[in-house]
Amino acid sequence: MKILISSCLLGENVRYDGDNSSIAYNSSFTFSQKERFMDMLCSNEIYSFCPEVSGGLSTPRTPAEIVSREKPFIVKDKEGKDVTINFLLGAKNTLDLCKSENIKVALLKSNSPSCGNTQIYDGTFTSNLVEGQGMTAKLLIENGVTVFNETQMKEFFRYLKENKK
Ligand code: SF4
Repeated sequence: MKILISSCLLGENVRYDGDNSSIAYNSSFTFSQKERFMDMLCSNEIYSFCPEVSGGLSTPRTPAEIVSREKPFIVKDKEGKDVTINFLLGAKNTLDLCKSENIKVALLKSNSPSCGNTQIYDGTFTSNLVEGQGMTAKLLIENGVTVFNETQMKEFFRYLKENKK
């Protein structure tokens, strides 16, 4: 199966701080969970993608949050610079990839202003999470891509099992 995965979850140093969110090195996952994750990577067609880098942002970069979650969306970095266009472009590029490659499922990084699928920071840079979706996750879901995050691995693996051809 074709699966889109946030590059940072695969260990690529694309995060705002120049680091990654590698599942393989994350101590909150057990060895057997990591083993299952690795098996999944080997037995599927994986598309690693970082919307923010694709949208033209550098790494490292100043962290950004969505300050207006309704249209017109506004995303600003911590220094007040408007980076909305980069986030919109990154979301569009991700959707374009899913459409061109017929990717129907994604495993995206939780809480990110791009990749978060259930929660995002509230736009005040105070580490406060609210219900909501990042710009990319939202666009993918609106276009029929099923999105999970790394805390939803059970559901993700169930989806893969049920949709195996
Ligand atoms: S935009 Fe997504 S893939 Fe890129 S660093 Fe943020 S969470 Fe990871």
